[in-house]
Amino acid sequence: MAVVVTGSAGFLGQAVVARLLAAGREVIGIDRRGGVPTGPGHTELHADLIGSDGVAADAIREAGGVIHLAGCPGVRDSRTDVAWHRHRDNVLATAAVLGAAPRRTTVVVATSSSIYGGSVGGRPCAETDPLNPRGGYAASKALAEALCRDHNEAGGRVVVARPFTVAGEGQRSDMALSMWIDAARAGRPLRILGGPERTRDVTDVRDAARALIALLDAGEPGPVNVGTGVPIRLDAMIDAIATALDVDVRTRVEPAGPEEVSDTRADTRRLERIVGFVPHTDLADVVARQIAAADFEQVAESGRVPA
Ligand code: NAD
Repeated sequence: MAVVVTGSAGFLGQAVVARLLAAGREVIGIDRRGGVPTGPGHTELHADLIGSDGVAADAIREAGGVIHLAGCPGVRDSRTDVAWHRHRDNVLATAAVLGAAPRRTTVVVATSSSIYGGSVGGRPCAETDPLNPRGGYAASKALAEALCRDHNEAGGRVVVARPFTVAGEGQRSDMALSMWIDAARAGRPLRILGGPERTRDVTDVRDAARALIALLDAGEPGPVNVGTGVPIRLDAMIDAIATALDVDVRTRVEPAGPEEVSDTRADTRRLERIVGFVPHTDLADVVARQIAAADFEQVAESGRVPA
């Protein structure tokens, strides 16, 4: 039976679909963003999870398993004018997916590490920690988790994956590494929110995809962190970009909003117990791949070779 991947045109969705196909599995992608190339074993439904005459719900009902990655991501954009879209795509779309999924079907729902409200004193955040969602994005993910809990209490099999920052080829253009790479290339100062000593637990997108699929296959309900347990300083990320591009960079520290936490770090013990490995990030490699993928995209769009 096919695995349904929602958000299949997105950053994580594309990586998960590619990995499933490489393992010879059948995939049905669902995304309202069209134009996704398909190949053998891959059907793509160009549909919204909400409405769309039940096209998405029918696919989910018949699925062998679901990895739900569709959503409105981005901690920084906690403005109230996107509150409706965020609620629709993070909360209501999750309700639609869970509503369509039979109780016996394993559903992996991507929420976010942001619901912890950051790591304090370098201590890793564990799944049993109290939640402290700061800002509209984290709040919407906490609501999505409440729906998942309900589904599990009614006998469902929902794995709540809490990814920490993910990086690598295809990273969204609104994420810090992508923005810094663009700025470094254009000779603009790199904006650092809060300070260079702040840290993020960064997972290589390849390991994130591998972990999400392994969580689906294990089918153990409840929350689980998807991270490395190794915090990386923001200035180390910037150094890696400067080295990869062989340019000098200028930075500018700006005040961080309240939703922008100082540090993130995953407790990886539960993930390791369930899937048998802990993601590992080689920062130089991840940054180099992200730059190469951005080059490729630029060539594909413009037909010009980047300098
Ligand atoms: P993305 O924006 O690249 O992909 C999301 C995809 O979902 C998009 O292609 C969008 O068109 C689709 N989508 C959104 N709402 C939809 C709907 N109602 N119906 C159909 N399609 C819909 O985001 P991403 O970075 O790949 O993140 C995937 C998920 O993981 C999100 O839920 C995000 O909040 C979560 N997450 C991501 C990260 C990260 O570092 N990228 C970290 C933590 C959590």
